[in-house]
Amino acid sequence: MRQRLDDIKAEALQAINAADSGKDLEQIKIRVLGRKGILTKILKSIGTLPPEERPAIGQLANRYKKEIEAAARAREKLILSSSTGTHIEGLDPTLPGRPLPMGTLHPITQIMDEVCSIFERMGFTVAKGPEVELDFYNFEALNIPADHPARDMQDTFYIDHKVLLRTHTSPIQIRTMEQQQPPVRIIAPGKVYRCDSDVTHTPMFHQVEGLLVNRDVSFADLKGILTTFVHQIFDAETAVRFRPSFFPFTEPSAEIDIQCVICRGSGCRICSQTGWLEVLGAGMVHPEVFRHVGYDTEEFTGLAFGLGIERITMLRYGIDDIRLFYDNDLRFLEQF
Ligand SMILES: [Zn+2]
Repeated sequence: MRQRLDDIKAEALQAINAADSGKDLEQIKIRVLGRKGILTKILKSIGTLPPEERPAIGQLANRYKKEIEAAARAREKLILSSSTGTHIEGLDPTLPGRPLPMGTLHPITQIMDEVCSIFERMGFTVAKGPEVELDFYNFEALNIPADHPARDMQDTFYIDHKVLLRTHTSPIQIRTMEQQQPPVRIIAPGKVYRCDSDVTHTPMFHQVEGLLVNRDVSFADLKGILTTFVHQIFDAETAVRFRPSFFPFTEPSAEIDIQCVICRGSGCRICSQTGWLEVLGAGMVHPEVFRHVGYDTEEFTGLAFGLGIERITMLRYGIDDIRLFYDNDLRFLEQF
């Protein structure tokens, strides 16, 4: 009886290893392990053996049954994973897969992150504030009272006479200074809103502003910080110039130009033949602003600066129409 079991197992394993389709395997299993299979028959006939032989033969037959089943499962896996795969009609595992559409960060987000990380490396931390803002924080506390002509410089979206969509991220500077004594070293990134739309303006755009307040902060610090920034966001060869300007919340004020990144200073359409492009506004914080937040103007001085992310992004990539950023045309956005 043992010999017969050994023969059945050897023959079954050989057949299983030669099988090359699920169908072949199924037939072998039926022939050996099925209801009328040869091994099944032996298991059923164990009762006819002499009682002293029954346990040993029974155990052996059951062990062989398990081994044959395991071999069949292993063979089935092998057949399924085999690249010849002849058992599945119409499947060609060598065909390339279908690519999944993959998104990328919007170019504005990429430059915003890059600008923030440059200032973070210089020790600034990010501060945030509301986009729907009170007139007080957006204008009044920044030395722009109700009848000030500077309000005409910015076409504001008013919600009512005291509430508006912020026209710059400067209100964050006021909110921060209200809650914190110097030293202050923050950047305020975010969306801002102005009623304006053409090839270089959109009603919503992104700004990053910076504020540093401490004892002995000077215009030299401002020059150093902004020159370092320009050299990192463009390249170290880019020439920078500081030009006197006016902002109600800084005194003295400056606008910062870089040498035109398109023509390298020789004059082109983008720079209106001047060879220079304005990229930043900055200055020393006006004492009137400090008075609004209760800082001692004798003890502390501060510097502030602001830049438009859309403008930096357009110059970095040579884009001449700001509206491309918000048309959501994937053919444009996928290039970044
Ligand atoms: Zn130029």
